[in-house]
Amino acid sequence: MLTVEVALQKVLTHATKLAPRTHPLEAALGLLLAEPIASDIDSPPHDKALVDGYAIQAADLSTGQAEFEILEEVTAGDVPRLTVTPGTTTRIMTGAPLPAGADAVVMIEYSELRDETHLLLVDASAKPNQNIMRRATSLAKGTTLLHPGALLRPIEIGVLAEVGRSQILATPRPRVACLATGNELVETSETPPPGKIRNSNGPMLAALVADANATPVALGIAKDEREHLTECIRKGLESDVLILSGGVSAGVLDLVPSVLTELGVKEVFHKVQLKPGKPLWFGVWENEDRRVLVFGLPGNPVSTLVCFHLFVRPALDYLAGRKSSWQTCRAQLTAPFQQRGDRPTFHPARMHDLGLGPMVETVPWRGSGDLAGLLAADSLALFPAGEESFSPGDEIDVILLKA
Ligand code: AMP
Ligand code: MG
Repeated sequence: MLTVEVALQKVLTHATKLAPRTHPLEAALGLLLAEPIASDIDSPPHDKALVDGYAIQAADLSTGQAEFEILEEVTAGDVPRLTVTPGTTTRIMTGAPLPAGADAVVMIEYSELRDETHLLLVDASAKPNQNIMRRATSLAKGTTLLHPGALLRPIEIGVLAEVGRSQILATPRPRVACLATGNELVETSETPPPGKIRNSNGPMLAALVADANATPVALGIAKDEREHLTECIRKGLESDVLILSGGVSAGVLDLVPSVLTELGVKEVFHKVQLKPGKPLWFGVWENEDRRVLVFGLPGNPVSTLVCFHLFVRPALDYLAGRKSSWQTCRAQLTAPFQQRGDRPTFHPARMHDLGLGPMVETVPWRGSGDLAGLLAADSLALFPAGEESFSPGDEIDVILLKA
């Protein structure tokens, strides 16, 4: 049976970065840019006023105050027509272009109107360039601002808008089909009749996918029947990644591996030395220029969650051209833990920071069907395979469950 490390390596060697494509700017948040971006403008496009006030020649206020004749008023969006000369001023609003001849702006608060066209300005500290942002001091036309690989945060979106990019080339989010399997499953909105349970993996997987910056495509529930399973899997193969939950163990209705194989999905591995999550199935479907990664996750919800974090999330990062978003750390156990068995165990846990470095506490948990037990967890504590008694203070590896 493969170790977690070897299995992950096999997943990643089959993953290829998605080809960049054009996205509207409104849909670009969180993507990685795939082209260099240069500014098509100077910003600001003109010397601009930074306050509401009066544009003057600073030398006119060398004595601290002086009277001026008002030439005109310029608001943001207008252009000045007249040149400011000694003893004259233009009333100017924030963002408006500075008139020719002026080299400073005095705040409106420092003015006293004498009549409609004359005023007194009192500002002993006025000097050239005061309250002016010079043309192109933020951006100069032709300058490269962003490079391929840049993560598009709200700041980048704003700058792209500033330089006129309503469309950009970026690596797309992987589209990830999520299919729950099982005759026992009913929808969330239903009260399960005898023998049935609600499909918790479907919504959880869609949320895990969205949280990994990918686009979930919810395919609902497939019956444990060849025909229905085949039809649902066919739909799933239209995405970049297909995640199934359930049907990969040794039960009589665990049909997922054989149906996948019938549909031409090539098995890469089945079963990993891991607890929970041992029955994990992984394969690849190829058709012309398309390659789909197919994960058959064991149906127990905690196995589904652990396998997603260990194998699917790193693959989604890879497809999207990102560094792995796994966050791990070393932490000291707060309480004893008895590890048993031949598989490494990823035990639900909670991190504490008491100012003595990272500490981790395993949370009470009744096995891979106990998803509610994870409500108190924010991490997975890793205990290597074998019989071992861990003591408080022992250092172990921990995977932090993001969000
Ligand atoms: P399986 O992997 O299909 O053998 O399922 C293992 C266990 O997980 C069984 O108890 C199933 O009822 C349960 N299970 C399978 N799929 C889901 C699901 N989508 N939501 C909740 N539990 C599930
Ligand atoms: Mg099943």
